[in-house]
Amino acid sequence: MSNSAGGAPRHRGGRRGMMLVLSSPSGAGKTTLSKRLIAQNPDVVLSVSTTTRPMRPGEVDGQDYVFVDDAAFEALIAGEGFYEWARVFEHYYGSPKAPVEEALSEGRDVIFDIDWQGARKLAEQAPDDVVRVFVLPPSMKLLEDRLKKRGQDSKDVIDGRMARAEAEISHWEEYDYVIVNEDFAGALEELDRILHAERLRRTRRPWLSRFVDQLMNERD
Ligand code: GDP
Ligand code: ADP
Repeated sequence: MSNSAGGAPRHRGGRRGMMLVLSSPSGAGKTTLSKRLIAQNPDVVLSVSTTTRPMRPGEVDGQDYVFVDDAAFEALIAGEGFYEWARVFEHYYGSPKAPVEEALSEGRDVIFDIDWQGARKLAEQAPDDVVRVFVLPPSMKLLEDRLKKRGQDSKDVIDGRMARAEAEISHWEEYDYVIVNEDFAGALEELDRILHAERLRRTRRPWLSRFVDQLMNERD
C-alpha cells in the first residue's frame, strides 16, 4: 500500500498526513494499540515524545521516549522545539516539532500517544490535521489489573495512575472517536478502520479539486 494514499494514487497529488491522537487513562492500552497499528501500517510513524520521567525496564531511549533531565527539557521549551508539552504525573512530557512536520509534509500519518492536555493543544493548533481517539478500559478493575500485569511500575506509581484515571476519562467527549479496549483484536481493528476512513476525508485530498475540474471540463 506504500504507493497509495487514502485510496488515491500518489500521481494524483497525494495528500497531507494526519495527526492521529490517542489518549486514555494509563493502562487502557494506547501504547500497545499504537505499536500494533504501526506494525500493520508501516507508512504510519509514531511521534516519539521527550520526557523527564525515569526509564522503565525494557524501554529504549529514542524509541519509546527520548529521556532527558529537567534542564534539557526546559531548554527545548525555550527553543520552541515542541508542538505541545505538559506536566503529567509530576514529569514533563512533550511532542517534538521537527520530525512531525517532516512526516506530515511527506504525506505520512503520525500517531501521538499523549494526554488530554496535549490532544487539546494539537487540535487548537492544527484543527484540520488532528483526529482524536479516546481509549476506554472495559472497567476500572481491569484497568488496575492491566497496570499491575504490565509489571513495570511500583505500587505507588500504579496508585498515582489510578488516582488520575477519572480526570483523564472526564475529557472523553473532546474526542472524535472512542474505542472500548476489551478484546484487543477488536479494538485494533476499530483503530485501523478509523485510520483508513480518515484517509478518505475530502479535506485531506487536495488533488480532488483538480480532478473534479478535469471531470467538468470533459463535457466542454
Ligand atoms: P503510561 O500511560 O502508564 O504508559 O505512562 P507514561 O509515563 O508513558 O505516560 C504518562 C502519560 O503521559 C500518558 O497519559 C501519556 O499519554 C502522556 N504523554 C506521553 N507523552 C506525552 C507528550 O508528549 N505530551 C503530552 N501532553 N502527554 C504525553
Ligand atoms: P497505556 O499505554 O494506555 O498505558 P499499555 O498499552 O501499556 O497502556 O497497556 C497496559 C497493559 O495492558 C499492557 O501490559 C498491555 O499488554 C495490556 N493490554 C492492552 N490491551 C489489552 C486488552 N485488550 N486485553 C488485555 N490486556 C491488554
